[in-house]
Amino acid sequence: MYEDFVEFVKDLYKFKSPVALHAPYFNGKEKAYLLDAIESTFVSSVGHYVNRFEKEFANYVDSTYAVAVVNGTAALHIALLLAGVQAQDEVITQPLTFVATCNAISYCQAYPLFIDVDLNTLGLSAAKLQSFFEQHTIQKNKACVNKITGNVVRACVPMHTFGHPVEIDLIAKLCQEHHVELIEDAAEALGSYYKHKHVGSYGKMSVFSFNGNKIITTGGGGMIVTNNEVLAKKAKHLTTTAKLSHPWEYSHDEIGYNYRMPNINAALGVAQLEQLDSFILKKRALAKQYQDFFAKKDDIKFIMEPTNAISNYWLNAIILSNKEKRDEFLRFTNNTGIMTRPTWQLINKLPMYKKCFTASDDNAKYLSERLINIPSGVSE
Ligand SMILES: *Cc1c(COP(=O)(O)O)cnc(C)c1O
Repeated sequence: MYEDFVEFVKDLYKFKSPVALHAPYFNGKEKAYLLDAIESTFVSSVGHYVNRFEKEFANYVDSTYAVAVVNGTAALHIALLLAGVQAQDEVITQPLTFVATCNAISYCQAYPLFIDVDLNTLGLSAAKLQSFFEQHTIQKNKACVNKITGNVVRACVPMHTFGHPVEIDLIAKLCQEHHVELIEDAAEALGSYYKHKHVGSYGKMSVFSFNGNKIITTGGGGMIVTNNEVLAKKAKHLTTTAKLSHPWEYSHDEIGYNYRMPNINAALGVAQLEQLDSFILKKRALAKQYQDFFAKKDDIKFIMEPTNAISNYWLNAIILSNKEKRDEFLRFTNNTGIMTRPTWQLINKLPMYKKCFTASDDNAKYLSERLINIPSGVSE
């Protein structure tokens, strides 16, 4: 029934079985840089690869500053703290996201507030954000207050799902009008553009992830980017135990975090970043092949990059007509050595977040029952 899909994917991946959903690809200077980092003895959070990775990364995403940290979740945590998120605040995000987005909000003792996604971008809906602001909020002393819960809505964290950009210009405008800080969760979207600007350059601060399954990897790692010098300095300070610079004294001026990216991970990052353009070309070519394949199928829709966007196509996705069809597809493909996965369970249904405020989630529900990610790794 789905045999032709299985044959198609096996052929794409040269009959190497099983086919993973995504796998890291090390074909550049990774080994040379790692060896160099080891021989320098600077393997922890001080070393020239960290600085180099930050500089080259900032340049790549058209941002002025980049601060390298241990993972994307830590990056989100610090970005939220620096946006002023406090205990009892609410932070807008989408129900269809990876749990890390909401966990980082919880680390600040704040609550996620869920607003639906759009079916074409798979990310936070600008239209639904606008109706939330209009229906449920009032302005008090230049702060946005949720009329129902009475809490301050301090920040908004849209997520660029699978690398497809949200309508970030509209979202940025709405946030500005309502005095809500914008932080982009661009963990999945390195190399994606909206209206010719790299994603992550619209928010006050934005974050990226270099976990093993992301488009480039440092083993584990994350990045905070911003164009604001003061915020960049604070981010570096907070992520390095808030240690004051001094030739010998150990002095710290606030409760900091040990979140700095180690040099050994950054060495991997520099080598990976050098190959990013070639990864993106390969991923976009793969997406085109899937697009052509699924164009012939009436009952399966292939997710394409939204209008005004260039996507990195980090993870390719298809939509089946209903949950039964989805499960049938998952069973068949996984039984034949092709790894496919449903999308995340909606975060506003998880036990720790089900009591948080949900403004809308119809599209997220629709997608969570029908969406499947299909193999998307870069290969030879
Ligand atoms: C991967 C990911 C993160 C967090 O990244 P880690 O590096 O694994 O901590 C956050 N948000 C989204 C949407 C992600 O996909």
